[in-house]
Amino acid sequence: MNYKKVIVEAGRKLCERSLTVGTWGNISCRDPEKGLIYLTPSGMNYDQISEEDIVVFNKQGEVVQGTRKPSIEKDLHLKIYENRNDVQAVLHTHSVYSSVFAVTAEEIPPVSEDFVQIVGDRVECADYALPGTEELAENAVEELDSRNAVLLVNHGAVAVGSDMDTAFKVSDVLEKTARIYIYSKSIGEAQIIPDEDIEAMQDFAKNSYGQ
Ligand code: 13P
Ligand code: ZN
Repeated sequence: MNYKKVIVEAGRKLCERSLTVGTWGNISCRDPEKGLIYLTPSGMNYDQISEEDIVVFNKQGEVVQGTRKPSIEKDLHLKIYENRNDVQAVLHTHSVYSSVFAVTAEEIPPVSEDFVQIVGDRVECADYALPGTEELAENAVEELDSRNAVLLVNHGAVAVGSDMDTAFKVSDVLEKTARIYIYSKSIGEAQIIPDEDIEAMQDFAKNSYGQ
């Protein structure tokens, strides 16, 4: 697999779907066989990034390829991979509806079935820390826990997946759920899915959904 191409194409997709503005947000993926991590360069327009701009890290977090300055959120990406063997792609977005929760430091509860199936039982907010710091990376990993998304207070969102397509799917469902939950507050009270049903739906999604 050409992992550099995966990152370049994901950057274009991030912009097409308005999951960020300008050069913000960042994207990475891991080659599960070699353990190498591919990350976007810092502060470059997504439509101008090409394969040679991607920065590659080894398992020890050392740069092994690329001459660009890596994303300032490299610790966030590296720490997630260190803690989650099941994760091979990380998408940090500045998406609007998820950020409404991030700026109010409110978690997103389990209100829709696609959300509980692929994102998690809820999405928590990591304690505030300055962007690009180890503290932010640690706070995010802690609140991400075994879920597939976490919110960064006063900042944005992080979605993870077993590959890039899955990370995008998680990000889309997170954004959609944030939007629905905000709308629901204008006409009533969203109903929370009971714990046992969350478990049943997660089990179904993992073991029997699809062809
Ligand atoms: P980079 O351009 O360095 O990836 O930073 C953007 C960002 O979103 C920081 O949180
Ligand atoms: Zn950011």
